[in-house]
Amino acid sequence: MSTGETVRRVGFVGLGNMGWPMARNLVDAGFELTVRDADRERQERFASEHGCAAAQAPAGFGGVDAVITMLPNGKIVREVLLDWEGGLGAALAPGTVVVDMSSSEPMGTAERGVALVDAPVSGGVKGADAGTLSIMIGGDAAAVARVRPLLEVLGGRLFDTGPLGCGHAMKALNNYAAAAGYSAAAEVLLIGARFGLDPTTMVDVLNASSGRNDTTERLLKSQVLTRTFSTGFALALLAKDVGIAAGLAEAIGIEAPLCQLTRRVWAEAAAGGEPGADCMAAIRYWEELNATELPAIPLAEG
Ligand code: NAD
Repeated sequence: MSTGETVRRVGFVGLGNMGWPMARNLVDAGFELTVRDADRERQERFASEHGCAAAQAPAGFGGVDAVITMLPNGKIVREVLLDWEGGLGAALAPGTVVVDMSSSEPMGTAERGVALVDAPVSGGVKGADAGTLSIMIGGDAAAVARVRPLLEVLGGRLFDTGPLGCGHAMKALNNYAAAAGYSAAAEVLLIGARFGLDPTTMVDVLNASSGRNDTTERLLKSQVLTRTFSTGFALALLAKDVGIAAGLAEAIGIEAPLCQLTRRVWAEAAAGGEPGADCMAAIRYWEELNATELPAIPLAEG
């Protein structure tokens, strides 16, 4: 992938589990990066390992053509754009495109003379690493066109979902569906195991039958039954996403009882989980409810 014609200098804010490999892929593709993370050590390490600039203040982003944010949530995105030492937004030249790739609220995006695009992702740390993320793009067509070369480096499938906010809405709805699929699979395992069914056999049956979903196919064996809990996607972040989906339904007057219940269940699972727990460890919520633990099964990948 060669550097895009219009966007060459890119600011990147948020070098976490996802942001680090995404920013690295942009450096590898030839873009000139200026990076920022609230974790100073992480920021300096990325900058020195990848030969790029680190911004200590918003002025450090002067001259960039676009800024990508990959932060925990929309509140932090707004803080960075509006409040961080006068606001990153105020330090950007008019016409700079800000692309929020975090999973944020569709209705919470702030504007300030810069063009905004929302482009949240799916595919996890593996997808970020491989540059094969699914990207759900919302925003004005001209702004989207400017940053498409960046998104093409980061993603394998790019979806134009509509105006600003549509990408964030789609991402929250996707993650609600994923959390609901996990919840159903977790309950199948708990009910079946108490009844006397073998967990590995249950997963094999689901995956050869109509009950299969992404959790059953990719994650139950490799992450849940083995108790690996290491996807790199925090339980608290998935709970946040389900909350965004449920809040969206409420805000636009859609009755979605399962979505509301899933929000409550995942909020409780996150509140009861260890700080920083991986989303796959949500199984413990169902185990604690039932004072039981599924047997840990050593299994090969898959
Ligand atoms: P993370 O917690 O690993 O990374 C977030 C980074 O933001 C951290 O390095 C943190 O130090 C930094 N940060 C926090 N506040 C900051 C601030 N004010 N200024 C600058 N930096 C700040 O999270 P992640 O897993 O990389 O997820 C990032 C976003 O992507 C979230 O919105 C998440 O929901 C979404 N997402 C994650 C995954 C995944 O598998 N991890 C997949 C898809 C989408």
